[in-house]
Amino acid sequence: MPQFSGIAEKYLAEACIDNNCTDGGSVIVMNPNNGDILAMAGYPNFNLNDPFAINNDELKSNWDNMSQEDRSNALQQMWRNKAISDGYEPGSTFKLITASAALEEGITDTDNKGEFNCSGSIEIAGVRIKCWRYYRPHGAQSLREALMNSCNPVFIGIGQKLGVHTYYSYLEKFGFLRKTGVDLPGEAGSIFLAEDKVGPVELRYYIIWPKI
Ligand SMILES: [Zn+2]
Repeated sequence: MPQFSGIAEKYLAEACIDNNCTDGGSVIVMNPNNGDILAMAGYPNFNLNDPFAINNDELKSNWDNMSQEDRSNALQQMWRNKAISDGYEPGSTFKLITASAALEEGITDTDNKGEFNCSGSIEIAGVRIKCWRYYRPHGAQSLREALMNSCNPVFIGIGQKLGVHTYYSYLEKFGFLRKTGVDLPGEAGSIFLAEDKVGPVELRYYIIWPKI
């Protein structure tokens, strides 16, 4: 891991600074063939050889006025490995999971011309969800095109076709409902409701705004 982590740290820091990421960032580089973690980096980070050096100017200037407990909490916060301890909203990248499940279940194919239609929004249980391009709907699309367009109505429709039970079976198969067991402390689990608590309204959130 160390040889790649230096590279990941360098470019993550650059990206966070260039894009004013006030909340910092994390990078995990994985070998998709075997799950090996090739690199892991967080920003802002701290120097392992000088772990009590505060990495945040605001915190540094307040330090003298802070209670012992607040200082201790701030240090714990600084030392957390956010890459494995924090939740993350994968957003539209999760459409790949929905697409994979739909292909595996045989309910669609990659290039059925005009199979799906985006009218700019879709109504679920009385709630209208807009496509990000509601002002100029995507219209007729194949699965491949819907994925390229990141079209919410199409993927919500596919999720409905799959149904909660089948959708959850793929969350399970992809490993989203359990920890990875990475040999580092503090791994957080994913945030999904129990399957029997998920109705059509909740399902749509999992398809377009899950938190894992
Ligand atoms: Zn659309």
